[in-house]
Amino acid sequence: HADSAMYLAKKEGRNNFQFFDEMLENQTERYMLIQHGLHNALKRGELVIHYQPKFALDEKRIVGAEALLRWFSPELGSVSPAEFISIAEETGFIVDIGCWLIERVCETLVKWQSQGAPLAPVAINVSPIQFHRGNLHETLKHAIKRHRIDPGLIQIELTEGVVMNREQSTVELLRSIKKLGVSISIDDFGTGYSSLSYLRHLPIDEIKIDRSFIMEITDEKSLLDTRLTAIPLAVIDLAKNLNIKLVAEGVETAVQGNFLLRNGCNVIQGYLFSRPVDEEAMLALWQQSRHP
Ligand code: C2E
Ligand code: MG
Ligand code: MG
Ligand code: MG
Repeated sequence: HADSAMYLAKKEGRNNFQFFDEMLENQTERYMLIQHGLHNALKRGELVIHYQPKFALDEKRIVGAEALLRWFSPELGSVSPAEFISIAEETGFIVDIGCWLIERVCETLVKWQSQGAPLAPVAINVSPIQFHRGNLHETLKHAIKRHRIDPGLIQIELTEGVVMNREQSTVELLRSIKKLGVSISIDDFGTGYSSLSYLRHLPIDEIKIDRSFIMEITDEKSLLDTRLTAIPLAVIDLAKNLNIKLVAEGVETAVQGNFLLRNGCNVIQGYLFSRPVDEEAMLALWQQSRHP
């Protein structure tokens, strides 16, 4: 792409510097648009939360869900969280977004509950910035109190890097959150710099095998390649031995699902069962889950 663009740039008689200047300018401009846009997005209600179920293959029911942010901007169209979260982290605005998210999820839990839905814990992704700089414990505590919800219905998802830093303050914060009755899940497990022995000392309820490991299982033939199956199998073993719940992320095919179920990972999250859906559609999924 860059090559052909460069070729065109030369053909049009512009020099390389001009081309790179323009490229940089476009990137900076998009960055600024997203950065400024986000502040308005919260106010204007452009941020929406979708939910993706965690599904137990053996029991054939929904055992949880994950809240995932969506941004539909009138100016920029749909912007992926992969893009805007990192920008919001750089500016620190992620803390405001995170607090808003916790509020909204609590409201939604209350709404679902009033409709008689059989609920299970809903996981909220917490950014490292909010974990270290925000007042996460207080925010959760107040939200639970204000909405009078069962804290067992809330879970937080943290990435490995956040919890494995061996700082006493991290362990203390995790413990204080657990004391509220909120459960803790480790997201994208296997991609960070985990110290496996350290995992034993953390008050963790669940780990999620990262999608990248599941993605490598493309067909029946890849099940015979021990280089591809070794990590998922090792994580399954680890979770079992440490008595930690396990979820496989990004499960898209029956081959992947069957492989996991056969090897003792019962809970999956991925397109195979459902894509992330809006609040109303999630309510319907909860209701269905009662009569599988
Ligand atoms: P994540 O927490 O690991 O979330 C899982 C991502 O995988 C989601 O992407 C989900 O839509 C996608 N996914 C689920 N199942 C499948 C599947 O079967 N196939 C494929 N190809 N993808 C699948 P999404 O929603 O684009 O979010 C990307 C990342 O952005 C999240 O990764 C998370 O790190 C971050 N993020 C999303 N929402 C929030 C939020 O509310 N707060 C924070 N701090 N981060 C968020
Ligand atoms: Mg997550
Ligand atoms: Mg994940
Ligand atoms: Mg992931």
